[in-house]
Amino acid sequence: KQDDVKSFCVKNAFVILTVTAVITGIILGFALRPYKMSYREVKYFSFPGELLMRMLQMLVLPLLVSSLITGIAALDSRASGKMGMRAVIYYTTTTVIAVFIGIVMVLIIHPGKGSKDEFTKQQQIEQVSPADAFLDLIRNMFPPNLVEACTKQFKTQYAKRVIHVTVTVNDTLIMQNGSQQLAQEEMIPVPGSVNGINALGLVVFSICFGLIIGNMREQGQPLKDFFDCLNEAIMRLVAIIMWYAPIGILFLIAGKIVEMDDITSMGGQLGMYTVTVICGLLIHAIVVLPTLYFVITRKNPFVFIGGLLQALVTALGTSSSSATLPITFKCLEENNMVDKRVTRFVLPVGATINMDGTALYEALAAIFIAQVNAYDLNFGQILTISITATAASIGAAGIPQAGLVTMVIVLTSVGLPTDDITLIIAVDWFLDRLRTTTNVLGDSIGAGIVEHLSRHELRKKDTEMGNSVVEE
Ligand code: ASP
Repeated sequence: KQDDVKSFCVKNAFVILTVTAVITGIILGFALRPYKMSYREVKYFSFPGELLMRMLQMLVLPLLVSSLITGIAALDSRASGKMGMRAVIYYTTTTVIAVFIGIVMVLIIHPGKGSKDEFTKQQQIEQVSPADAFLDLIRNMFPPNLVEACTKQFKTQYAKRVIHVTVTVNDTLIMQNGSQQLAQEEMIPVPGSVNGINALGLVVFSICFGLIIGNMREQGQPLKDFFDCLNEAIMRLVAIIMWYAPIGILFLIAGKIVEMDDITSMGGQLGMYTVTVICGLLIHAIVVLPTLYFVITRKNPFVFIGGLLQALVTALGTSSSSATLPITFKCLEENNMVDKRVTRFVLPVGATINMDGTALYEALAAIFIAQVNAYDLNFGQILTISITATAASIGAAGIPQAGLVTMVIVLTSVGLPTDDITLIIAVDWFLDRLRTTTNVLGDSIGAGIVEHLSRHELRKKDTEMGNSVVEE
């Protein structure tokens, strides 16, 4: 019996540590809140969390490039074409469903009813035209300078910052220095950019490069070996960082709870809005995605989700699906045994463009803002919101609160006041964590589904290579 307990603990060490970290982080955060730490003290306190963020972000660039190139080069162009097609169909379907859920929820619950007079705010957000934003998205797919794409994002029409945000409700200050908070996160809303790298451009380049190397056969082998080896080395680094992750997550969560604004004084609208977003995300994450997984694969979706727990908690702690990417890889490959050729191809693309949670949230938030302004939207406008919310979620980087800023496109498209984003800024840090977790879940379930649908091609490739095991 003791041996059973011991082997259970060893097998589930990461899960146990991670769950303990989250619970301890929450308790510690609330216990320290009464001490009203200064900004500097909170920064010191959250330092172990900041380190985790930096370690994970450090790995994103080499991981993204090496996994995509090796993932695609390991297949022939027909197989990768089919797999890519399946992934794109999955991304589109789930994003459209997410947007639909968001719209239905906000129309049914109607969190924005009542007057907006209670809100006063002061800020500036520059107007962005949806056409400019769309062109920037396409532009960023083709970085003119690859080295620059690895080091900085493009300054485009769309690169505007939110500045000086202050929100008061019934004369109580609930949000101050939104700009400072956003600037700290280095959030410049350039479509497809991730922590200063042009991820979308690198994804497009790596896919093409992987396809070419794959077609070059023996001639391409040295490059394939190089990226394979790079990928393996990075994954070993990830394995080390995973041991540190619970400590980082603990301090990230505790630090955020210590510094969060007091939202108990907030008006009913914002409270209802928060509840509506949570319900929408829960329906998508707990009902829609698992059902889709079950219908297609006939396997238990909750066992699959259980294997992803550490990635999901990391997403909750970091608010960044790209920073979570290394952990998502580990969970899928080692706990859920998803074929590496699939994860390497599908995950980096998913983390960059597939954001169900963000799409749901953007559509819902835009309609909430319309409701608060007593602005009646017609069917055409709701359709426009769903299309732009989808585009905005593709353009949003996998970094904290990126979705909040790409929302400018959605609001502008139907003539809603973009400065009303400040109404929802106070709760965004929290909702961001939930939508990031939904984003990571969507990418992971996508990898599981694509693997299942591609099993024949993968098996065929294994037979060709003389492999009995589905392994690289
Ligand atoms: N933080 C989200 C992510 O990394 C993006 C968003 O702000 O919606 O997936």
